[in-house]
Amino acid sequence: MPRFDADYVPRSAMAIYAHPDDIEFTVAGTLAKWARAGCEVTYILITSGNAGTHDPALTRKALTRLREEEEREAARIAGAKRVVFLRRDDCELAPTLPLRKILVRQIRKYRPEAVLCNDPQALFFGDQYVNHPDHRAAGQAVLDAVFPCAEMRLVWPDAGRPHKVHAVYVSSTHSPNTWIDVAGTIGTKLAALQAHRSQLGDRDLSPRIRGWARDEASRAPARRAGGKGKGRRPEYAEAFRVMRLFREDVPPES
Ligand SMILES: [Zn+2]
Repeated sequence: MPRFDADYVPRSAMAIYAHPDDIEFTVAGTLAKWARAGCEVTYILITSGNAGTHDPALTRKALTRLREEEEREAARIAGAKRVVFLRRDDCELAPTLPLRKILVRQIRKYRPEAVLCNDPQALFFGDQYVNHPDHRAAGQAVLDAVFPCAEMRLVWPDAGRPHKVHAVYVSSTHSPNTWIDVAGTIGTKLAALQAHRSQLGDRDLSPRIRGWARDEASRAPARRAGGKGKGRRPEYAEAFRVMRLFREDVPPES
C-alpha cells in the first residue's frame, strides 16, 4: 500500500492550478523531484491568466498566447510530461458543477495516482496577502472533483471511466502534515519560475523563494536516516496537507 510519506514518489501526478506560474511558485520543486524519479507529471491550468497584466498594449488573446508559452517552458524545465489549458477566464473562477465535471474528465483521462491543488480554506497569508479567489475556487473545484465524483461510476458516465485518486497533496495550506525535501530541485524550481517573464520581468525571486522553502524546512519534523543517528531537517522543503484517500478495503477500479 502506498505510504504517501515525505519520501513517496507516485507513479503519476496531476497538478491542477488556477494560473500559469501558480505551480512554479508553490509545488514545482516537488514535481521536478518526482519527474526525475520517473513519475509521469501532468499540469492542468484552469485559466491561462488572461487578465494578468497592467500593460495596456496586451489583449486577452495575446496574453493567453504569451502565458501558455511561458507555462510550457516552465513545465519542460521541471520535466512534466504534458500541459493542458482549460482556458477559463482569469479572475472569474468559481467551484461550479460545470467546472467540476471538466476536471473529472481530465482526472479520468490521465488517471493520476496523486493530485496536487491549492487549499481552498487558506484566505490570509500574513497581514499583506489575501489569497486570490481563483486559487481558492480552483482548490475547492479540484477536491470536489477528486472525491467522490471522479471515482463514482454513475456520476457523469460520459466523462470517462471512473478513477480513484490515491492521495491529494494540498499546497499553500495552514495545516500541513508532510514536508517534501526539495534541496535537490530548488534550482530547477527557480529556473521554471523565471520562465514567467510576463509576470516577473527582470525581478529575481530567488531570495524570496529560497526563504519560503527554508522556512518550511524549519517546520518539518527532524528525521533520522534509516532510523539511526541524529535527526535532521532538509535545507529546503515544500509543505503539504496530504489526504490519503486510498483504502485497502475499497480496491480502486483501474
Ligand atoms: Zn495565481
